[in-house]
Amino acid sequence: MKRSHLIKPILDHNYPTVSHGSGIYLYDMDGNQYIDGSSGAVTASIGHGVLEVVDAMTEQASKVSFAYRSHFTSEAAETLAQKLSELAPGDLNWTFFVNSGSEATETAMKIAIQHWQEKGYERKNRIVSRWTSYHGITMGALSMSGHVLRRKRFVPLLEDFPGISAPYCYRCPYNSEPSSCRLQCANELETAIQRIGSENIAAFIAEPIIGASAGAVTPPDGYYQRIKEICERYDILFIADEVMTGIGRTGKMFAMEHWGVTPDIIALGKGMSAGYTPMAATLVSDRVMEPILKGSKSIMAGHTYSANPLSAAVSLEVLNYIERKNLVQEAEEKGQYLLQQLHGLAERFDIIGDVRGKGLLLGLEFVSNRISKKSFRLQNGITTRIVNKAFEKGLLIYPASGAIEGIEGDAVIISPPLVISNEEIDRLVKMLEASIEELQHELHAEGLIENMQAI
Ligand code: PLP
Repeated sequence: MKRSHLIKPILDHNYPTVSHGSGIYLYDMDGNQYIDGSSGAVTASIGHGVLEVVDAMTEQASKVSFAYRSHFTSEAAETLAQKLSELAPGDLNWTFFVNSGSEATETAMKIAIQHWQEKGYERKNRIVSRWTSYHGITMGALSMSGHVLRRKRFVPLLEDFPGISAPYCYRCPYNSEPSSCRLQCANELETAIQRIGSENIAAFIAEPIIGASAGAVTPPDGYYQRIKEICERYDILFIADEVMTGIGRTGKMFAMEHWGVTPDIIALGKGMSAGYTPMAATLVSDRVMEPILKGSKSIMAGHTYSANPLSAAVSLEVLNYIERKNLVQEAEEKGQYLLQQLHGLAERFDIIGDVRGKGLLLGLEFVSNRISKKSFRLQNGITTRIVNKAFEKGLLIYPASGAIEGIEGDAVIISPPLVISNEEIDRLVKMLEASIEELQHELHAEGLIENMQAI
């Protein structure tokens, strides 16, 4: 076999070669069809092969694809920034364009630090985040992330940013029941601030719904209101990392709208261009920009491709498409339908411990004992096994395990394109059901499922 020169995620894995895509489907060169049940990495939100986007891409490319941001602005980037300021809540009226979610959160971190510097608070440069979190793969973004597997090799090089517990209700860090929840995990932010000193903290960052490290973990009502109150009380900026949740995925344009809370800075990526081009952004409020506008007048961040006209035109068409097709509303409605079906699966299969999420960002957590909620051992590789089984059947789902032995379990994200129909959801669920059934059967035979007694 011809050798490959491409570094792929697993070097000795034999990946099929993608051929083309249409709607919720992807096809490989052997003619196999796959349901994109996770929109790739929660990205392809308008589905594959949308010709309106291809047209926008061609039109812009035929005029100009690249002009350096230090030399020119462009109509495409200006219009996109204006559109985002119209869509965003509150006074989030400024946009800094980047090319990936990691760059968006890293830029958010830098803008928060710069905001305080320009106000004369040089020491306000720590970022508080949550242990169960993923904010990106670059060093700054990884410093803010709790994803153990992705951090492990680089820990000595990372900033030692403080962390707090996540609002992981299924495995409540305070052992509370929903009925007796006093939002202690949110109050932990206040305790951390008092320990570290608000004079040392620039911002708190959180994914509205936790994605890659835990599988659509959704906080209890009141959580973000409390977080925001604490941030305001101690003069700390609140960064919402909406890279996965933003642009309609959860049934609102921005997931923070579910809780009526307006962040100071929002990081966007993934769904912003729905995978048609690398594109991401950091949205910044007037209040955060004010001292910078009065001071240095320049954000100390940026990449060669930031705000390039081609990506901006593509992203603009994606946003317009989402509006024209009413896809935010669709995400809410189709999400309800899919959620109901996933709850149906949980009634059938003992290994499903939790079903969670909002809109079309839904997660399943797998357990070896449903009553005690005991996780499988890391070496049993349950997340990989379920993802592989689904793949063999032609269903793509997203692995979302933080890989922390004994703390977090195995989880997957189900997040199909927002254009999915009810019939397509039925098909997706049937394939998922067959995959889980097969896995549960094997796990029983391997003696890995405990009898359903609390231990
Ligand atoms: N933030 C969140 C919430 C994410 O889910 C991700 C990626 O999964 C990132 C940041 C990093 O984005 P990217 O992979 O585009 O760098």
